[in-house]
Amino acid sequence: MRHQPRKRFGQNFLVDTQIISQIISTISPKNDENILEIGPGKGAITFPLLEHLDHLSVIEIDRDLVSMLELEGQEKLTIYQSDALTFDFSQIPNKIRVIGNLPYNISSPLLFHLLDYRDQIVDMTFMLQKEVVDRIVAHPGNKTYGRLSVMMQAFYEVELMFIVPKESFEPQPKIESAILYMKTKEQPLVRNSKPLEEIVKLAFSKRRKTLKNCLKSVLNQSQTEIDLSQRAEMLCTANFVTLMNDYEKQN
Ligand code: SAM
Repeated sequence: MRHQPRKRFGQNFLVDTQIISQIISTISPKNDENILEIGPGKGAITFPLLEHLDHLSVIEIDRDLVSMLELEGQEKLTIYQSDALTFDFSQIPNKIRVIGNLPYNISSPLLFHLLDYRDQIVDMTFMLQKEVVDRIVAHPGNKTYGRLSVMMQAFYEVELMFIVPKESFEPQPKIESAILYMKTKEQPLVRNSKPLEEIVKLAFSKRRKTLKNCLKSVLNQSQTEIDLSQRAEMLCTANFVTLMNDYEKQN
């Protein structure tokens, strides 16, 4: 069965067996673990992973690829033909480890969608555009530090594991990819992500302006100990949590 890669689903299939082995080693699967793969495609990671597992669940949006996976007749594989962006992850029982070579066009919204299910997620191992991984792991003061860095680091320990060259895919993407490992923090600095998301979004809404300017509709200097003459990129995650708490006190 031939499959024509679909651009709208971000289909760049992994063909490099060494990279696939490196991904499996990074995940280090144990046979009884509850693993969920997003976007299995033709099964480049799925089938090597299944060799280590009693069972694996996958979510794939492309019906043709779902048919191809079904033809393999793997009893250990549960396939959800669904859009991961709207998928209700709570229907998967128990704690899950999430993995995937993610379609580049949905990576940020998917990470925010998964944030709603973080209590159920042990860890996540994702292939993403290297530029997105750089943003997620960036520290304050770095020019790639922004909303994605703060929101992900508030809830996960994040680590860039290794870089994956374009040649590892078919068709080849235009840019480099990287493997990101994210472990859910057992004691995050905040319980509710929504107010933090609001304040972080506002704070980074105008990168060149000070926090005083960006936050003027919600907070002024007399209401917080954080120096609002700084730019958002200078604040660590804990500082944003302080801003969020000060903002919530006003309501
Ligand atoms: N895992 C395969 C591999 O490494 O070769 C395929 C990776 S490819 C970059 C991304 C996969 O995600 C494709 O199979 C694509 O059809 C699927 N996909 C795209 N958008 C999706 C969505 N919203 N929900 C679930 N799967 C999606």
